[in-house]
Amino acid sequence: MLDELRRIVTEVAQSVDLRTALDLIARRVRDALNVDVCSVYVLTRAVPAQEAGLLLQATEGLNKTMIGRVTLALNEGLVGLVARRAELVNLENAPDHPAFKFVSDIGEEFYHGFLGVPIIYRGDVLGVLVVQSIERRKFSSDQESFLVTLASQLASGIRQAQVSGELSQHEDPAADLGAAVVARGLPGSPGIVFGTAVSVLNSVDLESVADRVVEDPALEWQVLLSAIDAVRSEFAQLKADFARAAGNADENILFDAFIMMLGSSTFIGSMESRVQAGMSASAALRDTVREHAAVFEHMSDPYLRERAQDVRDLGTRILVKLRARTQDERDLPERIVLIGRDLSASHLAEIPTDRLVGIVSSSGTGSSHLAILARALGIPAAMGVSDLPIVSLNGQEVVVDGYRGLLIVRPVGSFRQELSRLAQEEAQLTAGLKALCDLPAQSLDGFRMGMYVNIGLLADMAPSMTVGAEGIGLYRTEIPFQIRKQFPGEEDQAAIYREALETFRGKEVVLRTLDVGGDKPLSYFPIKEDNPFLGWRGIRLVLDHPEIFLTQIRAMLRASIGLDNLSILLPMIGSVEELETAKEYIFQALNELREEEQTISTPRIGVMIEVPSAVYQIDIIAAMVDFLSIGTNDLTQYILAIDRNNERVAARYDALHPAVLRAIVEVVDASHLLGREVTVCGELAGDPMGAVLLLGMGIDVLSMSAGSLPRIKWVIQSFKQADARQLLFAALECSRPVQIRAMLSLALEERGLGGLIRAGS
Ligand code: PEP
Ligand code: MG
Repeated sequence: MLDELRRIVTEVAQSVDLRTALDLIARRVRDALNVDVCSVYVLTRAVPAQEAGLLLQATEGLNKTMIGRVTLALNEGLVGLVARRAELVNLENAPDHPAFKFVSDIGEEFYHGFLGVPIIYRGDVLGVLVVQSIERRKFSSDQESFLVTLASQLASGIRQAQVSGELSQHEDPAADLGAAVVARGLPGSPGIVFGTAVSVLNSVDLESVADRVVEDPALEWQVLLSAIDAVRSEFAQLKADFARAAGNADENILFDAFIMMLGSSTFIGSMESRVQAGMSASAALRDTVREHAAVFEHMSDPYLRERAQDVRDLGTRILVKLRARTQDERDLPERIVLIGRDLSASHLAEIPTDRLVGIVSSSGTGSSHLAILARALGIPAAMGVSDLPIVSLNGQEVVVDGYRGLLIVRPVGSFRQELSRLAQEEAQLTAGLKALCDLPAQSLDGFRMGMYVNIGLLADMAPSMTVGAEGIGLYRTEIPFQIRKQFPGEEDQAAIYREALETFRGKEVVLRTLDVGGDKPLSYFPIKEDNPFLGWRGIRLVLDHPEIFLTQIRAMLRASIGLDNLSILLPMIGSVEELETAKEYIFQALNELREEEQTISTPRIGVMIEVPSAVYQIDIIAAMVDFLSIGTNDLTQYILAIDRNNERVAARYDALHPAVLRAIVEVVDASHLLGREVTVCGELAGDPMGAVLLLGMGIDVLSMSAGSLPRIKWVIQSFKQADARQLLFAALECSRPVQIRAMLSLALEERGLGGLIRAGS
């Protein structure tokens, strides 16, 4: 039975289209289970939702002329029952069941035994797979398992077909409201926009490069070098174009990483030695890119893993040049929504940036380089939209909803009108936000909040400067550690920190000490643990390695000489002893440097509040430091016991959970009582709903990604703090996040800020 299942799955995967696949399933399943009928019903999507129905899409045993013509409503028949309950139904005699519905002309009257299983994709029922027998009998548990397994394999293909619109051809043309298809991913960059899909196919595939014997290695190397040069100048041009688009010609350095790699002696050197050893230019490129990408791929921090894709992408770009392929601009639409698998920054180089209005990538997350770029440019982006039928989307009208990470294909009727209204609102919103850059984040009743940025690489500083950040609220120093091959020394670190402190001269720069462990390991310091998020992470690790900690603190202190804008932040503090020891080391380093006759001001010292034990000892902890910074990402993870990186439980992870809010309030109140400043540097600070509650709590500083800053400033300027406080009190009385969201959403809408939180619903 298992072999049979595998065979069907393989054949289905090789089918040219969904129709062929469904016919094949009906045929093969009927034979494999030795039943009389096998049919597949697929849910047609309709607006309003109650008009959705289950359309017969394939059958072996029933009347085939009814394919595409029989639709059962969700409250009709046994098929509707399976879909509604989202569970299998196994009956000895179907007509006896109260839900049974006789459909004329389909030829069902001869059948008694019925087994229906739902086809479910990521929690949504997409259709129903049914087998029937003339004989009165219940189907065996083996047959049930077979069908359930098969249905789970079918789900993704059906989803793809829905997105491509293939199925909608069979829907009733009069019910045109049903034609819009929505593909879900992750939010990448906020905004909602209409455009025409331009599919990027990675037809130039480095991995498919074959080895070839080279007769003249010197000539081969020249060819490769000129391709590299061409890519380098393209990036320089692209960088300048983006800088203009982002409104700052000098400071956009997002492409510097690419340009630097193209000049790096290790990257170029490995290619050169391969070519000299007799490899072709393409093969040398292929192997060098593989080698460099592997270094990043083995890192478990998602941000750094994404960099592997950047390396591969750079390689593909060089390969394109080697093959002298060019894109003809005249064929491109005026408003481009770039869609592709493993899309990355260099794909943007293939199109004129002034026509780019949206990005949809079937891979990546909100922290990938592409999403960073999209946010810097203010272009809506949806990331990780899996199962995209990329080819068939090309040329279709699509809408990108970057708020919720949605791709909407060919919206029609009132749904389309609503989306256009939102897109217009969005365009006005973006234009209006530009004016806020130089204004303070002050509530209508005069409460002033600091607006800081979070950064991880020096490259993040460029967009921060353009949005009027008042300081760096969180510099994640582990990122420079992770991209090196060994612990960076004191000099090396001091230079990195100096750049941040100098760029933000006169403004506060919060450097967080190393927060490795958990999902952020160092390749040169491997840690194997069963429960890494509860293990040797953050401050726990460095306190066991004072030599690492002291070097970092000395580097931070030396970098601040003459600037005096340094604050040191300690991550993952869970006990008073940890804090005491960490502070002792900070003062030890300070005293040593002062003994070396360096004039160094004492930095402000703060603690991340992200471990629940610190919340319950906040009165003691706050008294020991200058400021507190609430890491809502980890605090939510540890309070709710939900892994922040696990997409299976992602829907349950919510920083607006009343339990998390209560914890934050405790921290703020206790800290303020002692006169300590409180920052929020987790993602909640960049969330418009979160910001309202944080305003209500009287948080002193919000620190977030540069892209979120203007939007959050607008939120703060639109509320009275007194009203935000009332909303906070009401939220604390709620028992579920959904109630809190509904209330905040209404409050934002009432103030004309609805555009910040919703689009295209
Ligand atoms: C947090 O936990 O909220 C935080 C800001 O730190 P990180 O995301 O780096 O763990
Ligand atoms: Mg954290």
